[in-house]
Amino acid sequence: MAATKEKILVVENDPAVSDLIARQVLRPQGFEVKVLTEASTALQQAIAYAPDVVIANLDLPGLSGKDFLAALASQNIDIPVIMIAALGQEHDVIQAFRLGASDYLRAPVREAEALAAVERAMKQVRARRERASLSRQLQQTNQELKKRVNELTTIFSIGKAVTSVTDHKELFGQIVEGAIRISESDLGWLLLRDERSKEFILTAHQGLPKSLAKNLNQPWDDGISSLVALSGEPLSIHGQPLGRFKIASLGKAALVVPVKVQKQTVALMVVMRKKDKEYNSSDQAMLAGVSDYASISLVNSRLFRALDERAASLEQAVEQVKNSDELKNDIIDHVTHELRTPLDSAKGYVDVFVNGEMGSLKSVQRDALVSTQQKLERVLAILDAMEKMRETAAPVNQKKVNLNDLANQAVGRAQKAAKEAEVMIIAELPSEPLYVNVDVGQINLVFDALLSNAIKYSPKDREIMVQLGRARNKYPQVSVWDQGMGISAKHLNHVFDRFFQVDNPINKQSGGLGIGLALVKEIVNAHGGKVWAESKLEAGSTFYFALPPAE
Ligand code: ADP
Repeated sequence: MAATKEKILVVENDPAVSDLIARQVLRPQGFEVKVLTEASTALQQAIAYAPDVVIANLDLPGLSGKDFLAALASQNIDIPVIMIAALGQEHDVIQAFRLGASDYLRAPVREAEALAAVERAMKQVRARRERASLSRQLQQTNQELKKRVNELTTIFSIGKAVTSVTDHKELFGQIVEGAIRISESDLGWLLLRDERSKEFILTAHQGLPKSLAKNLNQPWDDGISSLVALSGEPLSIHGQPLGRFKIASLGKAALVVPVKVQKQTVALMVVMRKKDKEYNSSDQAMLAGVSDYASISLVNSRLFRALDERAASLEQAVEQVKNSDELKNDIIDHVTHELRTPLDSAKGYVDVFVNGEMGSLKSVQRDALVSTQQKLERVLAILDAMEKMRETAAPVNQKKVNLNDLANQAVGRAQKAAKEAEVMIIAELPSEPLYVNVDVGQINLVFDALLSNAIKYSPKDREIMVQLGRARNKYPQVSVWDQGMGISAKHLNHVFDRFFQVDNPINKQSGGLGIGLALVKEIVNAHGGKVWAESKLEAGSTFYFALPPAE
């Protein structure tokens, strides 16, 4: 396109002068020139023709050049005016300058002077025009910058909400609000795909009429959204084409952007304008930014949900374990109760026979009865242990004792069994007393259980060592060390569990119940202590327990 010509208005009543200026000087230079011979219409023409420069004779009939300048100024018309003045009009020229004339030509006008004056004026005009255009550009850039800052502030506030708002319903509401603001829309909504039914559910909205707002949390199909869900691409639609869809009654332009998680469209963000103003690519880009945040918060909400579910299932598992512990306790109560009376009376009878109160017995009869007596004693001992286990919720009779004394007594009690098993028990006790506040009966049970296990699982001729000292935290600590069969790492984790038994020949023969160590653990824990074990298969085991020191 050719550049528009620069326009010059010449107001001169002498045709020879105006012809010289217009035809001979300016037009050949590419200017568009309009000549007025009358000053009366000069002002209207200066407005209507909008010249870049005016050349006017100072001495016009009808309106003087000075009046013309004053009229231009009063109309706020800022066009450079070059005056033509005859010799002797210097005084008027000065006045004309005062009134805003930019230059003057002395009559008779010479071509070169006229051209030079016009060029000087045009230079001014061009510079002013450039300044105006620059300032316009600056204003525009400023406005755009302001808009971008607004958009970024909105996106930033959504980003902040995504990381700080934990209620996802509220967060989705904020996202829709941000999407509307950023895209200069009037209403909008967010549709979330239901993972099971695959339908889109209206999850958050703003500006929807009541009749549609009541569909919150219900499946939603506006015709357009499903198309976007299928294509996975944003869709901007306005004017007539929008008329085909249900949502046409809500506005005149719509923008639908998919929200994706791992390339899958999991939600749709829809915004609408009441005015028929198409959404451009910048609107799309901004909304895509918001939808990225929506996608992050969706992933977050899924993680939260998964965590919640996991926590709930763990809680349930804990409850089940608790119930199963309670069930075990109930069984123990029931079994001990049902067995105690008949076993006691059976043993009473056997004792009577073995003691010879019913007359003398043949030796085979006696042997059989002694063996029965022993078995009954063992079963009753197990019942005792089971009952004790029920009772050890908390230490009952606590008193301050020297743990060395309890260890000594326990070793003494175990000597008989050790002798029978042909193992030796050594005690290594420190010279300092180790005072603890304990229920002596219960701690005796702990020593007995550990020593009886050490004896039971040691081959003959081995040593068992009971050592006492202080743990690093100054707690009095006991260790029972044996050179027995040991426990595999896999089983070691479970030896303190109730009813846990390693499947080995000794256990098969002895018929233990897997209660001893569980009891040990419960007693020690109830005293605020700690119990643990180290072991190596075929090499031996060490069982430790530590108790809080007495004040
Ligand atoms: P139980 O009453 O059957 O002996 P415990 O609770 O005392 O049950 O022990 C649980 C299991 O730990 C036992 O079945 C046994 O296999 C193993 N165990 C305990 N102490 C020792 C030890 N000193 N050496 C080897 N195995 C042991």
